Amino acid sequence: MGRTKFHDLQAELKKTKTEFEALKREKEGCRVAVSEGLGLGDHITVLSVGHNFESIYLHTGLIPVQVQRWIAGHGLVNGLLYPLIEESADMLRLYRLFLYSGKIGSKDEDIVRPSPDSSAHDDEAEEAKDSEWHQLVLMYHFGSKIRDEKFVNKVLDALVEKVQEEDRWPTDLAWDVYDETKVGDALRRLYVDLHVWVGQGSGVNYPYEDRDGPEQFRRDVKVGMIMAGEKVHDPEVEMPWQTQFCALYHTHFVTPVCGTASAEVIDLSQD
Ligand SMILES: [Zn+2]
Repeated sequence: MGRTKFHDLQAELKKTKTEFEALKREKEGCRVAVSEGLGLGDHITVLSVGHNFESIYLHTGLIPVQVQRWIAGHGLVNGLLYPLIEESADMLRLYRLFLYSGKIGSKDEDIVRPSPDSSAHDDEAEEAKDSEWHQLVLMYHFGSKIRDEKFVNKVLDALVEKVQEEDRWPTDLAWDVYDETKVGDALRRLYVDLHVWVGQGSGVNYPYEDRDGPEQFRRDVKVGMIMAGEKVHDPEVEMPWQTQFCALYHTHFVTPVCGTASAEVIDLSQD
């Protein structure tokens, strides 16, 4: 081995070690700079949600500017609270969970983990898993409405995480997805890609419900199959979301592109 090659390898090893240590610190370390903490601030936004006027409190500092504008659009009552009468308190609580934890609360713990010897529970488990698909789609639509692209992107991540964990894909959501979205929408694209790459086009046929899905959807799957060609049948080919999730499905108008957290963010949503 030449001296230069040896030094290159040594340098590479040192770099990898440093990166590994940094990752480990990030994952396991208990110390952070104060500036890295949650930017809660001292102001609380009070929401009165649904027809039962359920109170939901959020630290204003955590709410993205676009969402603050959406909330403000409902008008402040008595200088105290925003009435979100037409919204679901359950959905707002799920959104609150995301704001404070960065996680998507779509799992139903009680039903998703049944006792292994109960077939009745197995049926329930299947049902819960299916309702989780639906829940994720509802969360996506809510995120789109309030224009929280970080939330919307995370819901798409969660959908793919579920596909990968359970090794199956949803086959009865075409109407739910297409009814509330427009041409080019990220969820539409992901949903069609799931049908093309995981289902290999079979989901638009019997016995799957999506065979009766919107005409545009069935056309999109057909076009997707033609574009993908033989690749969908090749087990060596990676799924589109495995290679370029962010570029294909994420929206980054006001948030930094994944992997460039320090990039300057310009708010393009200013009316
Ligand atoms: Zn991204």
